[in-house]
Amino acid sequence: MTQEVTRATFDEVMVPNYAPVAIIPVRGEGSRVWDQEGKEYIDLAGGIAVTALGHSHPKLVEVMRKQAGELWHLSNIMTNEPALRLAKKLTEKTFADRVFFANSGGEANEAAFKLARRYAFDHFGPEKHEIISFYNSFHGRTLFTVSVGGQPKYKEGFEPTPGGIKHCDYNDIEQLKALISDKTCAVVMEPIQGEGGVIPADIEFAKQVRELCDQHNTLLVFDEVQSGVGRTGTFFAYEQIGVTPDILTSAKALGNGFPVGAMLATEEVAKSLAFGTHGSTYGGNPMACAIAEAVIDTIDTPEVLSGVQKRHDIIVEGLKAINEKHHVFKDIRGMGLLIGAEVVEPFAGNAKAFMAASAEEGLLILVAGGDVIRLAPSLVIPEEELAEGLVRLEQAITKVIANSKAA
Ligand SMILES: *Cc1c(COP(=O)(O)O)cnc(C)c1O
Repeated sequence: MTQEVTRATFDEVMVPNYAPVAIIPVRGEGSRVWDQEGKEYIDLAGGIAVTALGHSHPKLVEVMRKQAGELWHLSNIMTNEPALRLAKKLTEKTFADRVFFANSGGEANEAAFKLARRYAFDHFGPEKHEIISFYNSFHGRTLFTVSVGGQPKYKEGFEPTPGGIKHCDYNDIEQLKALISDKTCAVVMEPIQGEGGVIPADIEFAKQVRELCDQHNTLLVFDEVQSGVGRTGTFFAYEQIGVTPDILTSAKALGNGFPVGAMLATEEVAKSLAFGTHGSTYGGNPMACAIAEAVIDTIDTPEVLSGVQKRHDIIVEGLKAINEKHHVFKDIRGMGLLIGAEVVEPFAGNAKAFMAASAEEGLLILVAGGDVIRLAPSLVIPEEELAEGLVRLEQAITKVIANSKAA
């Protein structure tokens, strides 16, 4: 028996922590999706920087089907081939020597923050437990990750939250100098703040953060949950910045939509998550790891990575052309295919209006906070679809401007 479900069903049966848009997509292929009514959308949102190879990528579908017929789950009482292969590849491709698998970005960060505390505890004692992160940063929704994250609204009403955490203005090295001390076990940063408004770190700032960490025996943790796995045009963003962290977290695009997260660390640091100190039932399960392996095999190639900058240029040129006509953006910024366009004053706080209007025009986009339109499309989106997406975006912008004048 099939049951009719609609957007209204959401309001009857789901916890009201989300407010999804009116449509319900039912099928996706590449960078297009179709809703229950059969209406087509160009996807420049990528499931929030997740579907980096688009929807129903043939290689991923094939690998998933094959793994589904072989082995789904074992538990961490046994290891498995896909997890070992994926970990090998991640360590070969990065600074890291060791990998811990989780199921999400929040969980990968939870592991990273616990490891940083534990490493300091093992080597310097319990006094060295402070974590410094940045205002407007986002690290997940667990109690520890909302506490480290720099957006107080995500903690409100959930106190008492874990203590020993300080926040610093992003890209402000003098402030960091004043906050860091020998009690600091870790500085946690996104190489480019995603949810916080698509704000890249200044290279000079990032280098000085690394130096300060070294001076204080503090671990540098890069949250690359959003910026990693090809999003910025290199496998991880840290490669472009030229600053190597001690711990790095990945998720989002790593599974292209299948839940998986990873924490990467150096040999020396990883030792502190000794036997029995941390764990996960699903983390590192063969399904997730087989898919993630296929994702990184496909993305970490010269063709895909070089295509990121090309598409970046097309989008930025397109946004500039729109702006010359409509004067809606006061800044266009980002790295690779994580692009933010900050809207001008009359629309400040209401970037969402552009997202809603875009959906009506058959286009999926994102916002980052109240002021920034965010685009995070598939890294392999065909250029025609990108061009069509920009046409629809201009139509949506025209409508929002017209409505604001009518109001
Ligand atoms: C999305 C995101 C997270 C949280 O990932 P989940 O999979 O939702 O737990 C953490 N850090 C950054 C930078 C993110 O963009």
